[in-house]
Amino acid sequence: MLRRIGLFRLFGIQVSLNYTWFIIFALITWTLAVRYFPSTYPGLSPWVYWLVGAVAALLLFVSVLFHEFSHSLVARRSGLPIKEITLFIFGGVAQMGEDVKDPRTELKMAVAGPAASVLLAVLFGASAAFFYITVGRSPLVAVLTYVATLNLILTFFNLVPGFPLDGGRVLRALLWMRTNDIRQATRIASAVGQGFAILLILLGVVSFLSGQLVSGVWLVLIGLFLKQAAELGYRQVMVRRSLMGIKVRELMTAEVVAVDPSLTLERLAHDYFLGYRYSSFPVLQEGEVVGMVGLDEMKRVAREVWPTVRVIEVMRPLAPDGYAHPDEDASHALARMLRADLGRLPVIENGELVGILTRRDVMHLLRIRTDLGE
Ligand SMILES: [Zn+2]
Repeated sequence: MLRRIGLFRLFGIQVSLNYTWFIIFALITWTLAVRYFPSTYPGLSPWVYWLVGAVAALLLFVSVLFHEFSHSLVARRSGLPIKEITLFIFGGVAQMGEDVKDPRTELKMAVAGPAASVLLAVLFGASAAFFYITVGRSPLVAVLTYVATLNLILTFFNLVPGFPLDGGRVLRALLWMRTNDIRQATRIASAVGQGFAILLILLGVVSFLSGQLVSGVWLVLIGLFLKQAAELGYRQVMVRRSLMGIKVRELMTAEVVAVDPSLTLERLAHDYFLGYRYSSFPVLQEGEVVGMVGLDEMKRVAREVWPTVRVIEVMRPLAPDGYAHPDEDASHALARMLRADLGRLPVIENGELVGILTRRDVMHLLRIRTDLGE
């Protein structure tokens, strides 16, 4: 579910599409062009139906985006940096650089989305009414009415009290306020979310078997997406909680094997990759980390030229967030590693390489903690 395609930036936030969105776009356009509009507005030519269907699907996209941006802008006003919004079926996921720190912020953020959708439903509904009175029955009125209805559905769907839906976030925030225990609050809200997801899948199967093929497929798709999101949301919270208060310094390996930028790939392969069996090495130039070189970089270069190509030519230069600080929270460093798909992160203090943090070390600690039931 992590595959995504970058679209554009808005208010400094990257907007991306999950590949499922194309299925949804096609499904919506098709449903509208072949079924909904021909039966409600008969007598128009097929290409008008397809055009109207595509416009309605695009307006749905804009509506979902508006909903997500309301969440994100409220989050940002509360001091939480939002880097990216990915649109999925019937909603989106905003990638936060940090976790919500208190239930009040969570509550405000969660409510912002449905409030935005209600606003859109009213706006589209009012314009539909306006054009109906002035122009009469027309495809335009049909599109506006349809999009207004979809926004209402979006509102109610998102208000179901199962995490990670907005309603579930509201429930989690309220439980969290009460018990002061975010882990328990998340567990309950996720369980409700998974229960709701299973209900949707069953409902979808029943609809499908009773002949309502399209709505059946819809319900199953949404149910599957929700179930996965509920499980994932809970696991993320557990990981963050398990690592809470643990600094990078406690998990890193202090003895680091670094390589020289002038080293040839031939020697890198034999002396380092085969010798130490690490998947990547920091590149050290005059005591300063300038990049990382791993098996991926090696693989991009033809084996015949390994004796002449040097590390400096193929290494991945050190990115601004491509390293960790020893006093940083381990969960933050892990989040960056997962986002950038890095296995090892150099640990740098005052410009000096003091250790290396590996994903395996972090995962190992998590497993031990889980086994101990902490
Ligand atoms: Zn929402």
